[in-house]
Amino acid sequence: MALGQACVICSRQSLGGSAEGEVVYMDESWVVRHSSETNLLGYLLVESRRHILDLSQADACQASTYGPLLSSVMKAMRAVLPCERIYTFTLAEAVPHFHVHVIPRTATLPKAFRGRGILSYPLQPGPDKNLTAEICARLRRALRVCLVR
Ligand SMILES: [Zn+2]
Repeated sequence: MALGQACVICSRQSLGGSAEGEVVYMDESWVVRHSSETNLLGYLLVESRRHILDLSQADACQASTYGPLLSSVMKAMRAVLPCERIYTFTLAEAVPHFHVHVIPRTATLPKAFRGRGILSYPLQPGPDKNLTAEICARLRRALRVCLVR
């Protein structure tokens, strides 16, 4: 990222990571927070603490902790939410800072939004603050149990 260009994720993290979306987990390399883009309950983002575009730029710590963290996040998600699938993908087009979308796909999600259709899921209405806070509390508890050490 060029000097003077603000990165949305770096800016948010410099504010403590919680300016937008509930933080579920944080360590020296990663922040896991609830997405504030849609009303999909449990939609998490795993964000690099360091500004990198993708894992080709990961340092040794990021490279060695990414897989175990993602696995733990997915186990916690399955423990808390009735998901038939968990979608994981990274695009880095709108925000060129490494972040992984981790989306629980429940049995009630309309077929039009399954698979690649998830990218056309509506942004409005946004997340319900109370439901999001409750699900984040459950995910935090489940993640403490599921963290691979
Ligand atoms: Zn950044």
